Amino acid sequence: DLWTSKGHVEFRDVEFGYSGDRMILPDFSLDIPAGQTIALVGTTGAGKSTLAKLVSRFYDPSAGTVSLDGVDLRSLHPKDLRRAIVMVTQEAYLFSGTVADNIALGKPEATLDEIEAAARAVGAHEFIEALPDGYSTDVNKRGGRVSAGQRQLISFARAFLADPAVLILDEATASLDMPSERQIQDALQTLLADRTALIIAHRLSTVAIADRVLVMEHGRIIEDDTPHNL
Ligand code: ATP
Ligand code: MG
Repeated sequence: DLWTSKGHVEFRDVEFGYSGDRMILPDFSLDIPAGQTIALVGTTGAGKSTLAKLVSRFYDPSAGTVSLDGVDLRSLHPKDLRRAIVMVTQEAYLFSGTVADNIALGKPEATLDEIEAAARAVGAHEFIEALPDGYSTDVNKRGGRVSAGQRQLISFARAFLADPAVLILDEATASLDMPSERQIQDALQTLLADRTALIIAHRLSTVAIADRVLVMEHGRIIEDDTPHNL
């Protein structure tokens, strides 16, 4: 029951298309050692989000396997999968409820101390404290409105608290109300420590902190190197 993933992710001979004859990933193989941070970049429609969706099992490949620690994702118990692999999307989804509830989404038994520690770790504590009711602020109530950048920090805190072996992050494109580049970079560095991460990166500062950068085009990797060499 208490299976803990190491975070080794592998795509082997994966084929995937959303419909009929149009292959998005015609023949995809990639080995991501446990603990590695990968930045995925490439043109729109290259298949980056599709890869992310295969790792989080929104979809299964039509051929080949995606595995975690050598086990086909299809053989993993959904509960183990959800605990091991967490995806943070561009929309940084918040549900109706308090800020604390939103951070504790993946770990409902978390104490307020743990919730606050997670928020502090990713630099979200200050703005949360400044909300009308702090951690008890209802995110949908008047005065409880949080900006897109603040939603992203809350979703980082949520992921930090959930503490998955593998983190998939579809990074938000920079917008006006985003926290500073520096703040995001610091938050990411804390969030990515000691886990495997696949980040669809839109910021140069994110690419810079990756161990490895993959450039995708038409469902294939056309470059695979360190940020330094690219
Ligand atoms: P972007 O940088 O714009 O986010 P991406 O690299 O993430 O692009 P994907 O979203 O993986 O690209 O899309 C790859 C291809 O799959 C595109 O041609 C897209 O139109 C198609 N596609 C994506 N989602 C679906 C879907 N749910 N149904 C059908 N086709 C889809
Ligand atoms: Mg995408």
